[in-house]
Amino acid sequence: MKKCLNCGNDCYDRFCPKCGQSTATGRTTWRSFSLTSLLEMLRFQGRNLHTCGELLLHPWTVIANYTAGRRVRYSSPLLFLLTLAILGTLLSSWAGLEDNDDRSSYLLRFHSFSSGMFTVCMLPPAILSLRIVYRKYGIKRYNTPELLIAGIYLSALSFLIDIILLPFDAWIIDTSGTNFTIFLVYCSVCVFKAFPIRPLWKAELRFIWFVILTGLFLGIYILALEEITKLILGPIIE
Ligand SMILES: [Zn+2]
Repeated sequence: MKKCLNCGNDCYDRFCPKCGQSTATGRTTWRSFSLTSLLEMLRFQGRNLHTCGELLLHPWTVIANYTAGRRVRYSSPLLFLLTLAILGTLLSSWAGLEDNDDRSSYLLRFHSFSSGMFTVCMLPPAILSLRIVYRKYGIKRYNTPELLIAGIYLSALSFLIDIILLPFDAWIIDTSGTNFTIFLVYCSVCVFKAFPIRPLWKAELRFIWFVILTGLFLGIYILALEEITKLILGPIIE
């Protein structure tokens, strides 16, 4: 038997049952420092890579598993989004894709910089319109934080699409429209899986209604955000 160095609990296994720390923890040495740092980084990146692959193959499974509580295999959504956002921003500035056209709208500048960033802005209008369009088709099974998690995973996916298409965008053609189309296809798959309405034409009609309503809310939301950003950033920029 060992005593956990973190919380003092009695341990009989490789990990403390109370706090989860490894019982092999001892004094920090050069060896343990380099080994644990490397392992932790690999574990973090490994999980991120696994989540990336799963999201690209079947995003709905990731969202459904996470919502159902099967979470250990996936990166936690917000951290994952942040990692991809930072990586995407670094890569696009490295590839020289910085936005240099002087458009009046702050949010449009956002969008031409990264469609991933734009997807994050879309979350509140999309969730509101989901609530309205699918109110009779099972939206009540999901609470708003759960919808937010799904949206965060999808935003991360849109950053991932940005990153994958980056080489084309930088050296061949402007892909910003393509990014968004691919993202919309992924979203529609998720919505169709989440709300399996029969017959199919009814499901399609609902989805079109969802897109239109999201667009409408997005317009209002952007106008509001625009005014707020202008109020806060305007005096600083000009
Ligand atoms: Zn412990």
